[in-house]
Amino acid sequence: MDMQRRHFLRGAGATLVALSGGAAAAEEARREAAPAAPAPFAPPAPLRPIEARADRIIALNVCTRPFRATGPRIEAERIGRKAVVHNYGHGGSGWSLSWGSAAIAVQLAQATRARRIAVIGCGAIGLTTALVAQRAGLKVRIYAKERPPEVRSFNATGVWSPDSRICTAEHATPEFERSWEAMARASFRTYQTLLGLADSPIEWRDGYFLSDTPFDQPARHGDDREPAYPDLERRLLADLRGPSLTLKPGQHPFRVPFARRYTQLTFNISAYSRLLMDDFLRLGGEIETRAFESPRQFADLREKTLINCTGYGARALLGDESIVPVRGQTARLIPQPEVTYGLAYRNHNLNVVARRDGILVQAQDPADFGNADTTVDRAASEAAVARLAGLFAAA
Ligand SMILES: Cc1cc2nc3c(=O)[nH]c(=O)nc-3n(C[C@H](O)[C@H](O)[C@H](O)COP(=O)(O)OP(=O)(O)OC[C@H]3O[C@@H](n4cnc5c(N)ncnc54)[C@H](O)[C@@H]3O)c2cc1C
Repeated sequence: MDMQRRHFLRGAGATLVALSGGAAAAEEARREAAPAAPAPFAPPAPLRPIEARADRIIALNVCTRPFRATGPRIEAERIGRKAVVHNYGHGGSGWSLSWGSAAIAVQLAQATRARRIAVIGCGAIGLTTALVAQRAGLKVRIYAKERPPEVRSFNATGVWSPDSRICTAEHATPEFERSWEAMARASFRTYQTLLGLADSPIEWRDGYFLSDTPFDQPARHGDDREPAYPDLERRLLADLRGPSLTLKPGQHPFRVPFARRYTQLTFNISAYSRLLMDDFLRLGGEIETRAFESPRQFADLREKTLINCTGYGARALLGDESIVPVRGQTARLIPQPEVTYGLAYRNHNLNVVARRDGILVQAQDPADFGNADTTVDRAASEAAVARLAGLFAAA
């Protein structure tokens, strides 16, 4: 543990970690690479179909992942008289890495010896950072323009995806990988302490990886506009993967010849965000609504040590153009409590997560990378819902 900590602190001088909810091709590669399970796990009860119809869409959301080629920025600097620790740029992995990332940022803040700190931002990263700081005995005030459910991370897919758009392959140096692994493992451990709670903020769910072609045939290539991403999870976290099992025709209800069953750590973001907010307030945290136009305005704050968790907002706030927007659109269908599985349809750009707050349907677009346009494209989500409907036999 101490070794890891030392390594974190060493690595924290350079820009570090970040992931996102997912390049389709990388995600497919991850699922394809699942080892054949040595023994089947218990067969599920007959699956209830998802009612995939456009008239069941209750929410359409677009948000931008804060991707940085070099990984998240987790480092300290002085801005005027303030010590500012940055903790932003987690691409598609913000929820997954949040607890481990927070631990590094809080250690850097503690090095200033401040007992009261400010956290700027109230999304996945800001809330977990604030909680980790409180648990370390610090008094915390959050300043943020928005709080859940208005923050970007509220619109994420909500699955464990710790290497999703975290950095480019060329920046995955051995040092980066060690830091990333320690951060991911710390986060994973924390998530296992959040299971079995009222309202199921975090739970393990089954999923089905579906394909028209055998899994040993290469998947069609994703988008050429996206850079190559490192395959960190499969290489470095193999022991954390849930079971996976190749199914024979007749062992599943989907209209595809090839299927594989997996298990996935899922974040029910509505309930989970409430839990984080409630815990923060219960531990004496305060929140002020405040929008910063420039880091010079940090000078107005009472606290001398700040942790900057502004996510994509850091691009405008700090003029940090290393943050690349990666657009992501999701649709939520009316919740179906009887549907307890998700699915991913290979080569069809379809990813579905059965969350408690709705069946989340995600489709990526080749133009997502570098795209900051948050206008909803309803037709794209309706097309994804139609692809989903096609997987179930007509009644
Ligand atoms: C479609 C999609 C799916 C995703 N799926 C997953 C997933 O399944 N798993 C996963 O781990 N990750 C996923 N992600 C990634 C994850 O959502 C991001 O990494 C996450 O948004 C990062 O959270 P954050 O707290 O840094 O940013 P945000 O949630 O954007 O929070 C930023 C906070 O800072 C505040 N702020 C910003 N600028 C200012 C300012 N100038 N002044 C005051 N306050 C400011 C905001 O109001 C907000 O409170 C997904 C992302 C997308 C887009």
